[in-house]
Amino acid sequence: AENTIIVGRYAPSPTGTLHLGNLRTAILAWLHARLQHGVFYLRMEDLDTPRTVAGSAAAIVSDLQWLGLDWDSDIIYQSQRDTLYDSALATLKQQGLIYPCFCSRKDIQQAASAPHVTAGVYPGTCANLTRDEIQQRQKSKTPAYRVRVKASLQDSVGDFVVKRADGLFAYQLAVVVDDLAQGITHVVRGNDLADSAERQQYLASLLAPNRAPITYLHAPLMLDSDGNKLAKRDGSDSLDTIREQNITAAELIGQLMFELKLINSPTAISLDTLRSKVSIAALTAQLT
Ligand code: GLU
Repeated sequence: AENTIIVGRYAPSPTGTLHLGNLRTAILAWLHARLQHGVFYLRMEDLDTPRTVAGSAAAIVSDLQWLGLDWDSDIIYQSQRDTLYDSALATLKQQGLIYPCFCSRKDIQQAASAPHVTAGVYPGTCANLTRDEIQQRQKSKTPAYRVRVKASLQDSVGDFVVKRADGLFAYQLAVVVDDLAQGITHVVRGNDLADSAERQQYLASLLAPNRAPITYLHAPLMLDSDGNKLAKRDGSDSLDTIREQNITAAELIGQLMFELKLINSPTAISLDTLRSKVSIAALTAQLT
């Protein structure tokens, strides 16, 4: 509806320093909300503790601030929200949609080599275990938990993990729980997550059946000069490198937005000015 307030967010995982592609996506997500006088949140997806890099959450926040990004309310940290994810899991369980899965990666690979099974799609090995079978298996192994999917997801991913065997909640579950809890209306993120959208839409429809669906928009990924995806790990395209060259935030923003043809020349521009220069139509044309 016309009067709906836009609520957006940027939700980085603190697994390293943000690279220029991440930062460009953050700017686009911010711009998408702010151009429409919307609300914008920052959420730290520090759920996958084994992959979390000490100090990177703080570095991410300061890099985003250096660019001039602002957000409403306090930053949310997923590592503090287990209660919420637990209750979402219980909601799915009540609907009979969750089952324990004892498969190892190898089990899944082996099953996938059988005829009529597509690689990357969970073959449903544990989907119909009896109570006894579950009890028996639980003696020697902690299971992961999967959610049963509807037909359209059956062919692309199959029943997918919402709680991992190591006890951590899966990204797919946590991201949806938080997007719902924060009232997000529009997700703007990198194109590498485009194929998660259907799973997330599905989970959202189970957890909040009466809510207006979230719109998922994906920004093009930035490639390096060899045409490869940038990786957070190597740090080569971090803001530290930019600052060492005495490039200002405004210069960087100008360059990034010019490359996307959102402004006409690569001149320095603050986020505030950018906001007055870019139309929402031009921005959404970049998103798929
Ligand atoms: N935390 C995820 C990542 O950094 C992004 C989640 C999202 O935007 O949906 O890859």
